[in-house]
Amino acid sequence: MCYAGAVANEQPRKATAAQVQRAAEVILDSSYPIALTGAGMSVESGIPPFRGPGGLWTKYGEPPMNQFQRFMADPKKAWEERLSSRNDEFYKPLTEARPNPGHMALAELEALGLLRFVITQNVDDLHRQAGQKSLAEIHGNWKLIRCLECGLRFRREQIDLSVLPPRCPECDGILKSDTVSFGEPIPVDVLNQCAAHAGKADLVIVAGTSATVYPAAGFALEVKQRGGVMVEVNLYDSEITSICDISLGGGSAEVLPRLVTAVSALRRSRAS
Ligand SMILES: [Zn+2]
Repeated sequence: MCYAGAVANEQPRKATAAQVQRAAEVILDSSYPIALTGAGMSVESGIPPFRGPGGLWTKYGEPPMNQFQRFMADPKKAWEERLSSRNDEFYKPLTEARPNPGHMALAELEALGLLRFVITQNVDDLHRQAGQKSLAEIHGNWKLIRCLECGLRFRREQIDLSVLPPRCPECDGILKSDTVSFGEPIPVDVLNQCAAHAGKADLVIVAGTSATVYPAAGFALEVKQRGGVMVEVNLYDSEITSICDISLGGGSAEVLPRLVTAVSALRRSRAS
């Protein structure tokens, strides 16, 4: 959940046209490209990062490391606390955020048949809103509610919150926000989905994250370790810049649309 970059005195980088063109070539030459996205993409949609100056946790305090255990010990109290803070400043940016051109570009790459899967560390729902279909939200989705027994997800309006904690309409299990809490295991269905796609991938685009938060980072590194290509899109040098095959400097909202334009043009020229 850390935001790539933020190294003191470092200048933002800007990808050259030649670098974008090279990235377009490797994407077209790959057979199973996937992407890993992180907080940098949310920041570009106006959602503050969790950590660092102006970060939500810096302002409001970091959740306890045993957040999930506290939920399990008293789900009713945890739900009451969550509902009472629904409209506060913590949730306002999430409510107001809209997909940026970076989200739209990844959805377009998928529609073109050139991106097979997106693993996101973001909980903000913006990839879905952009129209991304093949997607794993590895830290959950703040708009969804998940059954801790059967794993089904529900939209908030589908669930009766008059009695807390709410219960699963299918199996009567306890329902919790889909957002993965500190101390909570990442749901197995999501991990399996990520592993299946990462296992097939021969290229990974890492956008808006330094790919250091596990297990998400592991899926990207696995592709690279198996001999796949790693393309990074980050405003600043990150912890993975040195191992990337191509590192594109810039924000996702600026670089990813350029990449889509280059890929589309190259595909047309190869077809003609
Ligand atoms: Zn259930």
